[in-house]
Order: sequence, then C-alpha cells, then structure tokens
Amino acid sequence: MGGYGLPSLSLRQIRKETPMTQKIKKVAVIGTGTLGTQIAIQAAYYGYEVRAYDEDPEILQKTIQKLKGTMKFLGKSPTMPGDEWEKTASKVKFAKDMGEALKEAELVIEAIPENLELKRKAWARIDSLAPKGAILATNSSSIPISRIESATQRPEKCLNMHFYQPAVGWNIVDVMGGTITTPEVLETARQFIRSIHCIPLTVKKEILGFCFNSVWRAVKKQTLYLWGNGFVDYRDIDRAWMVMFTPSHGPFFLMDLVGLDVVYDIEMSYYNESKDPKDLPPKALKEMIDRKELGVKTGKGFYTYPNPEFLDPGFLNPNQ
Ligand code: NAD
Repeated sequence: MGGYGLPSLSLRQIRKETPMTQKIKKVAVIGTGTLGTQIAIQAAYYGYEVRAYDEDPEILQKTIQKLKGTMKFLGKSPTMPGDEWEKTASKVKFAKDMGEALKEAELVIEAIPENLELKRKAWARIDSLAPKGAILATNSSSIPISRIESATQRPEKCLNMHFYQPAVGWNIVDVMGGTITTPEVLETARQFIRSIHCIPLTVKKEILGFCFNSVWRAVKKQTLYLWGNGFVDYRDIDRAWMVMFTPSHGPFFLMDLVGLDVVYDIEMSYYNESKDPKDLPPKALKEMIDRKELGVKTGKGFYTYPNPEFLDPGFLNPNQ
C-alpha cells in the first residue's frame, strides 16, 4: 500500500494506465461571443498565451462590457475573482484574421454559433490554418464531435469540450471524444481543464447533451411538463428545489437566466433528433417567447427582474 492507504502503482502500470499528454501553452479561441470570451479570459488568467479571433472585430470588447455585471456577482467564483475579469481581458490577444490566431496554437477552442454547417465550414478552415499537432475542440452545446470531425484531416485530435455559462461561475466542463479521438488527446484536454480550475466530466460513449446537460435536460423536461400542462405552479417547483438542493434559486430561474428562447431551441433540437411528441416543449413556453418574455435579458420571464419574487424573504416562509 502507498501513502494515504492507496495501493502503490508501479511505473509500468502508471505508463500503461495514464496516456501520454501534450503540454499546452498556447490556446486559440475562435468566436468570442458569450462563451468564447469567457473561455479566453479564464485561460489567460491561468497563464496560457491566448489568441482569439471573431468575424466581428468589435465583439470581444462588447462582450467584455456586456458580461461585466455578471462578473461582479461572481466574487466567490471557483475559477477566478470577479474583479480580475477586466484586467485579465487585456491579456487576450485579438487577432485580425483567423490565420494569425491559429498559427502557433496547440489547442483550439471553437465557440461560434450552434449551426452544424457553419461549424463544419469553419472547422475545415481551422484545420487548414492550425499547426498539424494542434488539438481541436468545439464548445457546442448539442452537436457531437463525430458530426464535425470529418471536416478535418485530423479526426483523432478532435473532441467536444463543453463549458457551462457563466463559465467562470460553474466550473464543470464536459469532455467527449469522436469516433477515433485518442486517449492522449482526451487526457490532454482534461489536464487543460483542470489547469484552469474546472472539473472535467468525461463522457465515455457519445450521447446528445453530454454529461450534466443531459441531467439538466431531464429536470427541464419534467418541470416544463408539470407547469406547461397546468399540473403545478412553477413557483412551487422552485420552492421545493430551493429547500431540497440550492437555497438561492430553482430551475425556473435558471431557465430565465439562460433565456427562454435558448431553452426552447435546445428542447426543439432534442425533439428534432427523436421526433417523439413527448419531447416537444409546452405551447405555453412558445407563447411566452412570442410575447418577448425571454427571461432575465428582457426583464420578464417566469419571474420579473431585477427583483424576482423568489428573492423575497416570504417566498419560502411556511406562514405566507
Ligand atoms: P454567440 O452568438 O454569443 O457568439 C458566437 C460568435 O461567433 C459571434 O461573436 C460571431 O461573430 C462569431 N462567429 C460566427 N461565425 C464565425 C466564424 N466563422 N469565425 C469566427 N467567428 C465567428 O454564441 P455563444 O452563446 O457564445 O455560443 C457559442 C457556442 O457555445 C455555441 O456552439 C453554443 O452552443 C455553445 N454554448 C453556449 C452557451 C450559452 O449559454 N450561451 C453555453 C454552452 C455552450
């Protein structure tokens, strides 16, 4: 037995069980909207040399400003202090073209919009411009890498690396390989994720929704079903959730935070995959979207912002 009661491993066993990894120092982020900006800044905070590129040359600065408010609330972020956000942003080098962003990259993280054709086109370009040894990752929320990898000449170096929003607030990242991604590439990705203070969640077999997104999807599906079909008031579901799991908020606030239009699109992507009518989001959700009740971003969703009802002290008071 080794220290701490663990069985000691011989060097030979360690070599066999731990795949060789590549040391990553230079990271390129392609697409610096909501997620790409956060990933780039977080990597820069942990000492990576980060180059970023977006078709819109002003978007990085615009996104930094847009997310400033969110970062203020993240004083206790597990990944980086909220007040380091803007300071660290200046370390991200914004490239004037994709080639400049990619020319020395060892790891490329793509965070462009959720559209398969768009991504495949961009990946073919990324593949032609990035060094041959670079690992290519997509931050896609729903597209398995097996549908993108064939746009490149290096499918063995491609993977899903899915961050959650806000990335500096929720430090979990799904990792999922494609048809022939090597164990070395997956382990290098996990080491990178750990090095930026995130917890890698390994998906062992391809599945839509990865690891925690699938769990969250089951919660969304059932809670939307109960509310949308008139069984239960959404506030009672949030009350129960707050008592049982997270005292600060429940699933309906989280949907408001993500954006009800985004929630609807994600539910529709599951339906489009299964064609099972049970996977259709409730009509009541579509009606809210048509009324522009999209959640926090429009000031009204299930709750009204900036002072949502679930923050009232009386919300969980048994006597009220
Ligand atoms: P976004 O729309 O905020 O940003 C996308 C950016 O990509 C835009 O700034 C756009 O100009 C840029 N872009 C488009 N085509 C490009 C190209 N060919 N080359 C370079 N830049 C290009 O989107 P987002 O919310 O950051 O989402 C990006 C990806 O991350 C999507 O795949 C999404 O599914 C995933 N994701 C989003 C969230 C979320 O909550 N927003 C969470 C996890 C994962």
